[in-house]
Amino acid sequence: MADLGRSDYDRLMMPNYNPADFVPARGVGSRVQDTDGVDYVDLAGGIATTALGHAHPELVAVLVEQANALWHMSNAFATEPYLRLAESLIRRTFDSRVFFSNSGGEANEAAFKLARRYAYDHHGEQKREIISFSGSFHGRTLFTVSVGGKALYTEGFGPLPGGITHLEFNDVGALEAAVGPQTCAVVLEPVQGEGGVIPATAEFVEAARRLCDKHGAVLVFDEVQSGVGRTGTLYAYEQFGVQPDILTTAKALGNGIPIAATLAIPAVAASLVVGTHGSTFGGNPMACAVGAKVLELVDTPEVLDGVAKRHDRLVSRLSDIDTQGVFSQIRGMGLLVGAELKPDFAGRAKALQVAAMKAGVLCLIAGPNVMRFAPSLIIDMDDLDLGLDRFEKAFADETSTWDA
Ligand SMILES: *Cc1c(COP(=O)(O)O)cnc(C)c1O
Repeated sequence: MADLGRSDYDRLMMPNYNPADFVPARGVGSRVQDTDGVDYVDLAGGIATTALGHAHPELVAVLVEQANALWHMSNAFATEPYLRLAESLIRRTFDSRVFFSNSGGEANEAAFKLARRYAYDHHGEQKREIISFSGSFHGRTLFTVSVGGKALYTEGFGPLPGGITHLEFNDVGALEAAVGPQTCAVVLEPVQGEGGVIPATAEFVEAARRLCDKHGAVLVFDEVQSGVGRTGTLYAYEQFGVQPDILTTAKALGNGIPIAATLAIPAVAASLVVGTHGSTFGGNPMACAVGAKVLELVDTPEVLDGVAKRHDRLVSRLSDIDTQGVFSQIRGMGLLVGAELKPDFAGRAKALQVAAMKAGVLCLIAGPNVMRFAPSLIIDMDDLDLGLDRFEKAFADETSTWDA
């Protein structure tokens, strides 16, 4: 037992999180052990982040190698690891320029600032409206949380940045009515993650592209959660056949090491001239060395095709487990899967998540009504099955106490 434990949390930490009552100590692949040696199957993946599992030997090796070579220089210097990661991202996506930061929120902050600046440069400051959607999540900085579609997260933090319009997600008519000459950007997640694992419809994504083209607005895809193989293609936009002008990626890019990137087509990227934006840690050599290896390992047919196979197993087992019809829908793309509770059981996702942890399986929630699963893209099928066996037991015990 470590000399500090969960019982020390409240006296040491700000109360904004409510962590589990055990303390993870080590992880290998998709198995985690706590400080008491109890074993868990990880179907949460550090919130869609540890896409190659824990302690992947090739990632450990590249991190150690870079740690012995060079840690940090700042952006007053170009370093090889970040040039390599930028080249790798561009080669695997679309013609663009890259800005590095350390988190999804920062990648989006850069994206939204860039969209504003590009509109300002080419059209003037009246073209500044950002269109976003209910249920969307883009980070916790004041700008990104204001663009996000959850009013609860901005309550009490005003005055908030202005010029942001929120529409219903997947509502093509509302989008057509709203996008105009004043619009500088339309911002969406190809699959809303925190908002409940809700994929965009093809018509909606196509309409967003068409309307942005018509009105000279930039289309921003927040792929912080859906990127890096999560949906079975390296980025989810590939499956929609719609290319954004700006794409953000973070979570799984470093497999848990903080690294994020904002990609923009060259014409848009050109607005981020010297001095307009920056980050001290962004492009840190250790994080970038890991990121380049992550992309190399994920962007292979074996890993990406394996996502579909694991998706099928996860979804079919979840629907078998739900013998009592507690879920109204099981949905998602690839290894970002959500199971929504019927209205009769609204608000009970957290209780189910806690029961699952007690049974030795880590999963996520996406809001109060949706169970979310985002395991490693390379989770062993045996581990996936073991995790689901444990979930099945927890689910049966927990839901037996629920009456509709
Ligand atoms: C997690 C997430 C973010 C925020 O990322 P942080 O690293 O927590 O700042 C932004 N957008 C989406 C879609 C996310 O899932």
